[in-house]
Amino acid sequence: MKICRVSVNDELFFGVLEGLDANGEPGDETVIAILEGHPFNGINPDGRFVRYQDVRLVAPVLPSKIVAIGKNYAAHAAETNLGDVPSEPLMFLKPSTSVIGPGEPIILPWQSELVEHESELAIVIGRVCAEVPKERAHEVIFGFTCANDLTARDLQHSDGQWTRSKSFDTFCPLGPWIETELEWEDVAIQCRVNDELKQDGTSADMVFDVASIIEAVSNVMTLLPGDVILTGSPSGTGPITAGDNVSVTISGIGTLKNPVIDRE
Ligand code: MG
Repeated sequence: MKICRVSVNDELFFGVLEGLDANGEPGDETVIAILEGHPFNGINPDGRFVRYQDVRLVAPVLPSKIVAIGKNYAAHAAETNLGDVPSEPLMFLKPSTSVIGPGEPIILPWQSELVEHESELAIVIGRVCAEVPKERAHEVIFGFTCANDLTARDLQHSDGQWTRSKSFDTFCPLGPWIETELEWEDVAIQCRVNDELKQDGTSADMVFDVASIIEAVSNVMTLLPGDVILTGSPSGTGPITAGDNVSVTISGIGTLKNPVIDRE
């Protein structure tokens, strides 16, 4: 099932995408069944439908926090010169205010000369949980979406820690929707800049897999419904500049597209 959030007459609703085409993509026949409330306690359509073409999708979830895993692909750790792959999942936080939805612009901050894309598989947590053993991780996963963990690479190096470089407004595009039935063990993760393929990885190359990440993170902090965990970026990260169009495509989910603009 694909769960989205839509803006209808300036009100926000969760919804279920129905009538997708053979490739699982929205088309002329696609409608969105509006849900009562949020989807974490059960999917309850309220009986209303809107046409996909008539509404605007927003970020599929507003997390209380975004936990991100650094250097979780060996080839990416090497290309960024940030040291070896860690022996445990390396965690950092991105603020909820960095989230934007599909189609919204990534705004380049004046403080950085080098902002890079990082395409990542994002876990969406479905229930309150702590100390989750990896054998039970599937019980707390609501679904998966595409993420772009934008990073001011110059500030990441010069600051010596990652908060500023990862936290600018618009630095966490999420979407376009949440896929609740993804088999995550080996999905293709790609990034294109202006239709040129820049990243072409697979979740099978993660150092720590989805279940291990949930175990590690939930042993540090309680996770809440809607919280998002970014699982790290495959190699091929690189710079973006104003005027670019960046897209993250994950097989079985879809494509998250965002334009890039300068901060005024
Ligand atoms: Mg990352």
